[in-house]
Amino acid sequence: MVSSAALAQSEMLDSWSAAAAGPPTSVSILGATGSIGTSTLDLIARHPGRFLVEAVTANTNAEALADLAKRSGARAAVIADPAQYQALKSALSGTRIEAAAGLAALDEAAARPADCVMAAIVGAAGLRSTLVAVQQGRRLALANKECLVSAGDLFMAAVKRSGAELLPVDSEHAGVFQALIGQDRAGIERITITASGGPFRTWSAADIAAATSDQALKHPNWSMGRKITIDSATMMNKGLELIEAHHLFGVTPDQLDVIVHPQSIVHALVSYVDGAVLAQLACPDMRTPIAMALAWPQRMPAPTPKLDLAALATLSFEKPDLQRFPALGLAVAAMRRGGAATAVLNAANEVAVEAFLSGRISFPGIAAIVEQTLEAMERGGLLAIPTSLDSVLEIDLSARKVATERLNSKL
Ligand code: NAD
Ligand code: MG
Repeated sequence: MVSSAALAQSEMLDSWSAAAAGPPTSVSILGATGSIGTSTLDLIARHPGRFLVEAVTANTNAEALADLAKRSGARAAVIADPAQYQALKSALSGTRIEAAAGLAALDEAAARPADCVMAAIVGAAGLRSTLVAVQQGRRLALANKECLVSAGDLFMAAVKRSGAELLPVDSEHAGVFQALIGQDRAGIERITITASGGPFRTWSAADIAAATSDQALKHPNWSMGRKITIDSATMMNKGLELIEAHHLFGVTPDQLDVIVHPQSIVHALVSYVDGAVLAQLACPDMRTPIAMALAWPQRMPAPTPKLDLAALATLSFEKPDLQRFPALGLAVAAMRRGGAATAVLNAANEVAVEAFLSGRISFPGIAAIVEQTLEAMERGGLLAIPTSLDSVLEIDLSARKVATERLNSKL
C-alpha cells in the first residue's frame, strides 16, 4: 500500500512534471551504470515528460547498459570496452537504440546534442569524454572529481572558452555552489567542506592498519561506487574534494578547510568576512545534488528523506586526524605544491585503491604508495605544470607506472 506521505510526494512530483513550460531537457549520462548514473536515471524516470535521454555509456557491463538504455528510452548506448560490442548489439536488437563501442565512440556520445551531460565516469578514465562534453558549451553536471584533480587548470580554462555551464554534483560542492548564490565573492573568507570521517573515524591506528576491504567498503552514511567508498575510508576523498573546490570556486588552498561531521547533514559552509556563515543541509542522498544539477535554476522534487532536525537532535563536528588519515595531508600538500602533483596523487591513488581492493596491499599501503610515487616523481623533476590534455595523460601514465613499480617492490 502506498502511504499518504508517499502519495503526497508523488503528486508533488507530478505537479512539477506537469508544469513543464517547454520541450523536455535532453540528458546524456557518461557512466550510466554506476551509482551516480543510476541515481540520475532514477530521478529522470520519476519525472516523465521533463527529460529525455540522449546517450548512456558504461565501461564493460553491456547487459546492464542495454537494460538501462531500454528502460530510459535512450537514443544511443555506448560501451567503452570494444570486446563488449556484440553483447551490447544483441541485447539491443529489436530496438531503435544505436549501439557503439570504444573510446572514440565514448567521445562521440559526449559530443551528442544534449542540453545536459552528466559526467559520472569514475577516475581519470573520465577525463577525455568529460572534456569533450565541456567543449559542447552546454550544461555539464560534474560528478567526476578526478577530472579537476588531474587537470583542474586546463579543465576550467576549457569551461571558460566554451561557455559551458558547470554545475557540481559532488554533494559538498553543490552545497558550496548554493551558499555562494547572490553573494559578493570578494567577501568570502573561507570555504569548509564536511567529511563523514568514513567507517574508521573512531578506529585506532592499529585497527586501521589491519582493516580489510570489506570493512573499508562499509560506508556509514552514503551508498557509492567502490573507488570513492575506499577514498572515503582513507579520507583521500576529502583531499580530492579540496582540490576540486580550489578549481571550481577559485579560492586559495589557505581558504579551504575540512571538518569531520559524522551525520553528513551539513555538506558545506561558506564563511564571509563579516562573520556570517552560510551552510547547506540535506539528508545524505546523492539524488538531492543530482536534482539540483538537472533542474537548476528550478528545484525538482527528489525522494530524499526530509530533514528532521529534532529527530536528529545533535549535529557534531571534530577536526580531522591527519595521523590516522595521512592521505588527506598528502592531498593538501599536492594542492599546495601545484603543477602536476595533483595528477600524480590521483593516478597513484587509483592504482593503490585497486591494489587494496584486490588484496595486494594493506589499507595504510594506499597512502604509502601515493606518497612514494609523489616523492619519486618530484625527485625525477616530473611535476612540471601540464600544458595540454596529452601532457596530463602522459603524467597520469608515468605516475601509474611508478606506483605499480612501488607495489611490485613490496610484494
Ligand atoms: P561507480 O563505480 O559506481 O560507476 C562508475 C561508472 O563509470 C560506471 O558506469 C562504469 O561503467 C563507468 N566506468 C568506469 N571505468 C570506466 C572507464 N575506464 N571507461 C569508461 N567508463 C568507465 O562510481 P560512482 O560512485 O557512481 O562515481 C562516479 C564519479 O562520481 C566518481 O568520480 C566519484 O568520485 C563521483 N562521486 C560519486 C558519488 C557517489 O555518491 N557515488 C558522490 C560524489 C562524487
Ligand atoms: Mg563528496
